[in-house]
Amino acid sequence: MIPITVVNVGAAEPLVTEVLRSGAIAQGKMVRRLEEGFAELVGTRHAIAVSNGTTALVATLQALDLPAGAEVITSPFTFVATLNAILEAGAVARFADIREDDFCVDPDAVEAAVTARTGALLPVHLYGQTADLGRLTELADRHGIALVEDAAQAIGADFAGRQAGSVGIGCFSLYATKNLTTAEGGMITCDDDELADRLRVLRNQGMRGKYEYETVGHNYRMTDLHAAVGIPQLASIAELTTARRANAAALSAGLAGTPGLALPATLPGRGHVWHQYTVRVTPDATVDRAELAAKLAERGVGTGIYYPRLVFDYPCYQRHPRVMAESMPVAEAIARQALSLPVHPALDKSDVDKIVHEVRDILGG
Ligand SMILES: *Cc1c(COP(=O)(O)O)cnc(C)c1O
Repeated sequence: MIPITVVNVGAAEPLVTEVLRSGAIAQGKMVRRLEEGFAELVGTRHAIAVSNGTTALVATLQALDLPAGAEVITSPFTFVATLNAILEAGAVARFADIREDDFCVDPDAVEAAVTARTGALLPVHLYGQTADLGRLTELADRHGIALVEDAAQAIGADFAGRQAGSVGIGCFSLYATKNLTTAEGGMITCDDDELADRLRVLRNQGMRGKYEYETVGHNYRMTDLHAAVGIPQLASIAELTTARRANAAALSAGLAGTPGLALPATLPGRGHVWHQYTVRVTPDATVDRAELAAKLAERGVGTGIYYPRLVFDYPCYQRHPRVMAESMPVAEAIARQALSLPVHPALDKSDVDKIVHEVRDILGG
């Protein structure tokens, strides 16, 4: 079976062993090393490590100190963490429909959703390609609202030469299946000294010095054990991204012209890091998405559906007083069509050839 993801962290063994032997296993010098390397990668003054990508989003929204009733505009086509973070931070979730070509929020829809209550824009750089950060920055600046990037899937992606997470406040996930992983972990990137300071205090129970509580905080800390898992990947992430790009290019070349299949695109001026290679199985395909996925599984090709429903399309959100669920026709259509094929760096040429062959064979291309 060609799996949809492979986790490869064996190179971390010596560093993890070093942490275990030292006995200093909680947040310490390994976390600082990971933060320094991460800030350098993203090109920001600061990187603040936290326990996971969800807490990166929660802490960032909390640090913005939004007024009661403030709305955060995000994508309806995202992992549930984006929505849970908005609600955990006490804000109201409002949505803007996405575009078919990049699967990210449509700046026109975001503009239409901005009100006097908007406190932040929270675009999601889905599958490893950034949203239209040019238009979104312009909108955020014009209205004086914060821009928070859900860059959980997009480490190394860029927009007009700027790294994902360096345009607004960047929130990354270092979960096991993400392009760079610490098993569980998160990172916040920014240039603002004061914001970075607030985040560091917030992460550690709101404590400035020992028993010196400055604000109501939380425990959002990462451990040195987790940081040690991630440090070796700082040096290899560029190479891993190059491998993902080569795999995506080979898939696109091989699958071009397959009937019933719309292939993912890299938009001009954007660098895609291919967290997922996601095709759309269009209504004219000879088999539907579920059947294509089932047949591929029978033939040894793993696939994933990210995401089968809009993020708020569950009773717990539909009846939530701070979730402004509205009709999102583009996202609804794409949620029925999206299917991710393996693109990870552990694929070899014969794997890519097999994926192409089986998809074409099933769809009759
Ligand atoms: C993974 C992910 C998150 C959450 O990260 P965790 O580390 O799992 O908490 C948030 N947003 C998106 C888009 C993600 O893919």
